[in-house]
Amino acid sequence: MGSEVRTLNVAVVGGGLVGALVTCFLAKRGHRVNLYEYRPDIRVENSRGVSIDLALSARGREALRAIDLEDLVINHHGIAMKGRMIHLKDGSLKEIIYDSVNKNCIYSVNRTYLNQILLSAAEKYENVTIFFNHKLLDADLDTGALKFIHMQTDEISNVESDLIIGADGAYSLIRRLMIKKPRFNCNQAYIDHGYVEVSYPIGKDNKYIMSGNHLHIWPRGNFMMIALPNDDYTFTGNLFAPFKTLEALNTPENLLEFFRQEFPDGLRLIGEEKLVKDFFQTSPKTLLSIQCKPYHFGSKALIIGDAAHAMVPFYAQGMNAGFEDVLLLDKLMEIHNDNLEKVLPHFSEIRCDDCYAICDLAMYNYVEMRELVTKKAFIFRKYIDTVLQWLFPKNWIPLYSTVTFSRMRYRDCISNKAWQDKVSLNLTNFDSIALQY
Ligand code: FAD
Repeated sequence: MGSEVRTLNVAVVGGGLVGALVTCFLAKRGHRVNLYEYRPDIRVENSRGVSIDLALSARGREALRAIDLEDLVINHHGIAMKGRMIHLKDGSLKEIIYDSVNKNCIYSVNRTYLNQILLSAAEKYENVTIFFNHKLLDADLDTGALKFIHMQTDEISNVESDLIIGADGAYSLIRRLMIKKPRFNCNQAYIDHGYVEVSYPIGKDNKYIMSGNHLHIWPRGNFMMIALPNDDYTFTGNLFAPFKTLEALNTPENLLEFFRQEFPDGLRLIGEEKLVKDFFQTSPKTLLSIQCKPYHFGSKALIIGDAAHAMVPFYAQGMNAGFEDVLLLDKLMEIHNDNLEKVLPHFSEIRCDDCYAICDLAMYNYVEMRELVTKKAFIFRKYIDTVLQWLFPKNWIPLYSTVTFSRMRYRDCISNKAWQDKVSLNLTNFDSIALQY
């Protein structure tokens, strides 16, 4: 007979996507969960008027399914994207389907909406309390004590917990506290490229201005623009480019000239006036990658989501990987009867290397999206992959599909691709797009 499970008093720091999700899972297991979020309640005050969508795929979907939210998110608010629509400079379009064999899609989902329904789902558990406007100031990772400040009243509160979950995003304070501990390794890298958001208006007759079932890409070698459909028939686009390029777009004339040269069809769809207004509303944002190890400290603290493995957004896996962290934590709690002395080290042991792998893959995919998708070698390899997957559906699953449409461990996705490269090299003697690992 297994030992009796103790009800834990858990403090989750960060009420973003991953923090709200892990709160649901821990509450479902019967633990007492206090969720602390620095911002006000986004269900009441959402300062951001623009739609920002994220691509949700298999790993994230499975986590939502476990708390009965998948159907609501996918079928009522998700927009299926079946492939990439490549916009070439001459205005011509090329479609690259993600999975022509099994017809899997990724889903564009509104970030704010998803965060709102996760917070509401968490709040439905009577063993959950959410504290908005509470910013973590300090924590003692040895004892589980935390210190917060209320953002509106400046009131300080000190609380105790059996477990601290740091879901406090890419600039995590919990991670910074772990860095001070011995044997904690952390690599933080900003890439030389940044991004600016632009938005595409609703088309005629309340329809999408371009295909609503694709992720649109304008690959231009060293930079690119992408656009995802929103459920209000707009698109949100991002121009990713070296900071040098973005900084040179410092006047409306320079910006419009750049778009006329590089994205003439994009400019026509957005409109000159709107582009200038959107573009100069904010400064270019940075892109950060974090690889650290371990993810836990003793039996009192764990980091998950971007706090543990922020990555560049080019594989659309940041949130999906964060949601998968929660699935893994839940599984390990089940295996170890919620014994934190066993659960936390086991979590680091399994997860750190996989998340190193997805951070690396995300970097690689930037090159694929902005450059390789236009190359004949890439298109040919995609064709070979499709034929082999069609012939051997169980044994030949291309890299994009293992990452996006399966729960294969991220490290194994890379090994699988390396094996496929060897086989296809022998078949075709075609080495120009082998992964550089
Ligand atoms: P966050 O969403 O950053 O949430 C952290 C929360 O912690 C915040 O609410 C914050 O207010 C709170 N917090 C921080 N500090 C404190 C503190 N001291 N005290 C209390 N609270 C605190 N991922 C995908 O899977 N698919 C995509 O298509 C995709 N596209 C992306 C596009 C872009 C341009 C970017 C930048 C990222 C994209 N991502 C995507 C990644 C995704 O946004 C993140 O991985 C995801 O938001 C991580 O969620 P999180 O809850 O770990 O962190």
